[in-house]
Amino acid sequence: MSMVSTGKDASITLFAGPSQDSCLFFPRQLTMAKKRVAIIGGGSSGLCAIKSCLDEGMEPVCFERTNDIGGLWRYEENPEEGRASIYKSVIINTSKEMMCFSDFPIPDDFPNYMHNSKIMEYFRTYAKHFDLLNYVRFKTSVCHVTRRPDFSTTGQWDVVTETDGKQESSIFDGILVCSGHHTYAHLPLHTFPGIEKFRGRYLHSREYKNPQEFSDKRVIVIGIGNSGGDLAVEISHTAKQVFLSTRRGAWILNRVGDEGYPMDIVLSTRLNAVLNKFLTTSMVNKWAEKRLNARFNHSHYGLQPTHRILNQHPTVNDDLPNRIISGRVLVKPNVREFTETAAIFEDGTKEDNIDAVVFATGYSFSFPFLESCVEVVNNQISLYKFVFPPHLEKPTLAFIGLVQPLGAIMPISELQCRWATRVFKGLNSLPSMSDMMADITQKKEEMVKRYVKSPRHTIQVDFVQYMDEIASLTGMTLI
Ligand code: FAD
Ligand code: NAP
Repeated sequence: MSMVSTGKDASITLFAGPSQDSCLFFPRQLTMAKKRVAIIGGGSSGLCAIKSCLDEGMEPVCFERTNDIGGLWRYEENPEEGRASIYKSVIINTSKEMMCFSDFPIPDDFPNYMHNSKIMEYFRTYAKHFDLLNYVRFKTSVCHVTRRPDFSTTGQWDVVTETDGKQESSIFDGILVCSGHHTYAHLPLHTFPGIEKFRGRYLHSREYKNPQEFSDKRVIVIGIGNSGGDLAVEISHTAKQVFLSTRRGAWILNRVGDEGYPMDIVLSTRLNAVLNKFLTTSMVNKWAEKRLNARFNHSHYGLQPTHRILNQHPTVNDDLPNRIISGRVLVKPNVREFTETAAIFEDGTKEDNIDAVVFATGYSFSFPFLESCVEVVNNQISLYKFVFPPHLEKPTLAFIGLVQPLGAIMPISELQCRWATRVFKGLNSLPSMSDMMADITQKKEEMVKRYVKSPRHTIQVDFVQYMDEIASLTGMTLI
């Protein structure tokens, strides 16, 4: 999918404020200062936010608390506090064709599904190509973002940052929150009685880096999202035994689709989006489940869920069935109780001599620097199109990348940035607060109706449909 604009070209700088030098020749009151936008976070969302601000003739300042770009995708053995953390082997599950930014294709010689090191290489080249690094203030954390006293007329913000222990306050005309939503581990220990007695090691998947320490151990992985699947497979290559515990099973998709094409290219097509409008949900579920069961029958592998395929965020894993059929991974139901050395599962079975438990139980998000502005309860946040808080007098605060798409986040972040910067400039406007609230409520109701109840299903969007929705708000059409 590429971006094509109709009417006004969204990427054209409609007004670029004069530089400081030009003020020598123009009376100050006749010049219009560039809007200053604070971007919080220098991950992939922050990088495309800088570019969008520049495209719209605004002055971006990107605050990144660490000393480098890339956010979650920059693997480190000991990542900094407040940044997402990945394991060494992570390979993306969205193909390069579907994840690249619209104006910077991923090189032909990069693989379709890239290792995290290649993804970082891509982001570094993107930043260099568009000269984005000059706008990043590294080792600078955003501590507080508050509305200025005259917010109702100016829409301006006070931003307090900290660099090397020194705090500084600055005024900004707009804020793009690009701080990510996979930073804080969701570790629901209270739902696992006896874990406090367990004498082995337990950890969240956020802490997991590589399988070495699990060699020859008996390990339980809890959760069958993409982390749980990846870790069960990887650990099973060296562990004595891996148990993969899931409270509701999952439909497993693979990266390699028909004729070897990346699965997301095969699935995320405009044709499929149109077909979805005409087919009932039950027809789509039946068709998709039949195809997945043709690869391996989920009930023979202990994975058959009671819910339908469209009711859950997809787990993508090409290797899991091989590890299960070879007995290296044993699928188990939810853990009812831990003892000092064992786990008792909900079907009454017991596994003794457990050495380690990995909780691949997902993430929760929060925005501690924005306390007075938005409320997050159980991973729920009220944002118009997952971007704008509906209650502000001026639309000068936007969240970027705060969605869980059935597809890649990066092009979505890019499009959200293009929309948000145009709203900041007054080129696009938002509906009334009541209309925005009605849209938010409708989206929440649709999500509750479609997905199984879980804190992981609060910001779900369908890739093509959501991209179309945001594009139409900016006056663009996607082809
Ligand atoms: P991040 O990459 O998390 O970057 C946020 C940045 O903000 C960080 O650099 C952080 O240091 C900085 N920051 C945070 N708070 C502050 C502050 N107060 N002040 C200053 N700086 C701050 N998505 C996909 O599309 N495809 C995939 O296949 C995929 N695989 C994934 C695999 C794993 C294991 C995980 C956990 C997630 C995966 N994701 C995937 C989702 C992932 O979140 C996005 O790909 C992407 O990283 C989002 O980028 P971001 O810039 O929004 O956030
Ligand atoms: P996730 O998608 O939120 O999955 C969490 C899993 O833990 C679910 O199976 C969930 O079950 C289970 N769980 C949560 N609380 C539980 C509890 N109290 N008891 C039992 N089970 C519980 O988290 P994730 O797998 O870490 O994935 C996070 C994001 O990273 C996703 O966007 C994912 O696609 C991405 N990711 C991508 C890759 C990759 O590209 N290779 C790898 C890893 C992660 P329920 O469904 O029943 O709630």
